[in-house]
Amino acid sequence: MDGQRIPSMMRGVVLPGGDRTETRRYAVPKPGPGQVLVQMKASGLCGSDLKFIYHEHIGTGGSQYQEVIAGHEPSGQIVAVGPEVSSYAVGDRVVVDHINGCGHCSECRKGCMIGCTSPERQAYGWQRDGGHADYLLADVRALLKLPEPLTYIDGAMVACGVATAYQGITRASVSGRDRLLVVGLGPVGLAVVMLAAASGAEVYGVDVVPERIALAKTLGATAGLMAGLDALPQIMDLTQGMGTEVAIDCSGHRTGRHLCLEAARTWGRVVFLGEGGDVAFEPSPLLIRKQWTLYGSWVCGLDGMAQTLEFLVRSGLHPDALVTHTFSLSDAERAYQTFARGTTGKVVLTMDEASP
Ligand SMILES: [Zn+2]
Ligand SMILES: [Zn+2]
Repeated sequence: MDGQRIPSMMRGVVLPGGDRTETRRYAVPKPGPGQVLVQMKASGLCGSDLKFIYHEHIGTGGSQYQEVIAGHEPSGQIVAVGPEVSSYAVGDRVVVDHINGCGHCSECRKGCMIGCTSPERQAYGWQRDGGHADYLLADVRALLKLPEPLTYIDGAMVACGVATAYQGITRASVSGRDRLLVVGLGPVGLAVVMLAAASGAEVYGVDVVPERIALAKTLGATAGLMAGLDALPQIMDLTQGMGTEVAIDCSGHRTGRHLCLEAARTWGRVVFLGEGGDVAFEPSPLLIRKQWTLYGSWVCGLDGMAQTLEFLVRSGLHPDALVTHTFSLSDAERAYQTFARGTTGKVVLTMDEASP
């Protein structure tokens, strides 16, 4: 890696809205103090990219897309370091936490930069250039080293969805004592299945898409159920009429959330991970008298992301198993079209082709 020639120009993919992608040419940035230049190896596509950027730019405030290079799930290798960088070197394999907070508010001090409300907060791929490019300029305070034997695709998975799933199961202290219902088997739901099964829990997955249910079973779910009126009675059968100790909604859909509330047993735990939408429920029968605890969990902090990487290595897990499609950077248009159909697992761009 030392002595590798860094070209002066690179490609970057922008999402102009209207279900389009656009590849533009950019000057390769030079790292300033506290920054490194990362040669991109893998960059994930996320449901939030589709929802807030790809179809239309509907985000506001902290979710407003600034027409930068897209991609907030980057993983790659450092090829240049700026001044005042001592903890990273050329050749290091890294994962980039996708938010750079102000660094000094209470959420940033916790490492939860997603919760930073300062105007300085910037997300890669939203307010500053992201990972759908040949190179990425990253601040070291948002970096984590990618340990062997994890792959760059594993790293891209951890940068957002897998760490989100990890925080969700740790909020509810999921363990081998638990039966866990996971509603919504998109990439985050599938990651919950994988991590919870590796933690010893008995996992039941629910979705409307048969391909996703099948994938959940390969990742460790003991039962995969089709969403609908039959789902709750089936869960009750599986749990001898008791309900599950934990239920995690990853669908963000009102019926999915409601199913979690109905399926959680007395003194159980429920986690809402999936964003958007709404839910209405009767608190007396579904919450108060069931004595359970409801958690909201939003993405993941830096420390949780580091723990996720450790857990994956220790458990011998590779979240690249959730990836159903990879495309080269030059094929970004087809990657987004495929992902937007809503029947895939995770879709990732890889940059192993030669840069032009
Ligand atoms: Zn994401
Ligand atoms: Zn902050």
